[in-house]
Amino acid sequence: MHYSKEEISVIDEARVFGDLPISISNKNKLEDLNDEAIPNHIKDAVQHDELEHREFIDTEFWKELPVFKNVSREEFYDFKFQNKFTVRNIAKLEEYTEGLIDPSFIENVKRGMEKAPMNLSLSPYILSLINWEDPYNDPLRIQFVPIDSGFKPDHPKLSLDSLGEQQDSPVDGLVHRYFDKVLFLPLDVCSVYCRFCTRSYAIGGNTDSVDKKRFKNAPDKWKKAFAYIASRPEIEDVVISGGDAYMLAPSRLRMIGEVLLDIPHVRRMRFASKGPAVMPMKILTDNAWTEALIDIVKSGRERGKEVVLHTHFNSANEITDITRKAMLHLFQNGVTVRNQSVLIKGVNDTIDSMIHLVRKLSYMNVQPYYVYQHDMVTGTEDMRTSVRQTVELEKSVRGVTAGFNTPLFVTDAPGGGGKRDVHSFDYYDKVTGISIYRSPSVDDSKLYIYFDPIDTLPIEGQKLWEDESVHDDLIQNAINNSGFTSLTLYYKCMYWIMSYLAPTF
Ligand SMILES: *Cc1c(COP(=O)(O)O)cnc(C)c1O
Ligand code: SF4
Repeated sequence: MHYSKEEISVIDEARVFGDLPISISNKNKLEDLNDEAIPNHIKDAVQHDELEHREFIDTEFWKELPVFKNVSREEFYDFKFQNKFTVRNIAKLEEYTEGLIDPSFIENVKRGMEKAPMNLSLSPYILSLINWEDPYNDPLRIQFVPIDSGFKPDHPKLSLDSLGEQQDSPVDGLVHRYFDKVLFLPLDVCSVYCRFCTRSYAIGGNTDSVDKKRFKNAPDKWKKAFAYIASRPEIEDVVISGGDAYMLAPSRLRMIGEVLLDIPHVRRMRFASKGPAVMPMKILTDNAWTEALIDIVKSGRERGKEVVLHTHFNSANEITDITRKAMLHLFQNGVTVRNQSVLIKGVNDTIDSMIHLVRKLSYMNVQPYYVYQHDMVTGTEDMRTSVRQTVELEKSVRGVTAGFNTPLFVTDAPGGGGKRDVHSFDYYDKVTGISIYRSPSVDDSKLYIYFDPIDTLPIEGQKLWEDESVHDDLIQNAINNSGFTSLTLYYKCMYWIMSYLAPTF
């Protein structure tokens, strides 16, 4: 399942222009330049690998999976086919990958699923893009398929709803933390289940390890959220997430869009979806859904309001020529697309992989907006990176391309501090891996704390965490060193609430 250079078609200008109506093509104007002497080059010739982000897989790659070997391009592009053949349990995964993988891998997944907070859901698109010759190191496998051998013990200071969202929730399915923006969660299902989901406490079905606080936020409940938004004049910005807006029926997508656009003080809306990363063809073939989105965007524009799509691509391996076509379709219809990634070990945590992703997104006119420091989510300790590593990565990425296409690297401060520039800690100890943040716009009397994964610490740091009796001292030292001893640590309060609600914490 590796794609040779010959198999990957290079997008040359002719093909890009080929997607546009002929009248827009301005190729002929370039002929005037034929006689012009080329000025001296002050830079070395560009290397092929520096332009690799312009290559998009355009082969019938799914045919390499025996189960899809007779599936035509037309069928594979059909979102109904993708939904119908989505793998939702291990038995199907075993069936679809038969002969491709070692049975020990399936055993490993079975044991992994017993501990995982999230369900399994793999579209044929994702299934065919995983390199089954080496599933252990594949960036898509890492994101969506848990394996037992990868598990590491949770950090001793990890809590389940690590962002404290349930405390900022005036009604089920609505989070109002920041002054002028709210997060509306109209549904609790997704087009794929990410192992690292921040909302693993609620999203998808129950698993062996987590009994979810389901929102059961059906349309009749949405009214409460709309009424709250309409009653708060300071709210200008609504993030519609979930779950995943991809899973909304077109009529519901339209309804949500129209109601929110009718609220006079709502000026900006974003629909958030991982869908384009796992089923890009839906944008090309689910016409009712795509038209609903485009219509809301147009209707918003007419009223002077902005409606955009926020995607969630984490690695260039999720992007093919189908993705490029889908993003082009949205772009040509006036839909602004921005991307939010989660920084994940083995997926996008090297300088090369992050730069490649940023360039590839930019090339498709998808603006890299945020890269999140991985939240402290149970069962994902193998996926987190240290703040130290994230800071280094940020330094290497900034300056590579346009500033507006350079993502901001943020930590969503555990306990409800909200997004903080990862560089903006008031104190960071590389040995204990403790970073301390303030968030005056959320609460200027609190301190927020993030913990690096223990196995990324130097040996002396790892030793310190072995002794539970010194944990509180480590935290207190960090607070003292931050110089903000008069502020209270949100974390302690959070920990108390969680232990009160759930005796197992
Ligand atoms: C991320 C988030 C938002 C949107 O924040 P931006 O920084 O504007 O992207 C709004 N509400 C909540 C609770 C969030 O977590
Ligand atoms: S798509 Fe988003 S909400 Fe759904 S499982 Fe993934 S991270 Fe969670």
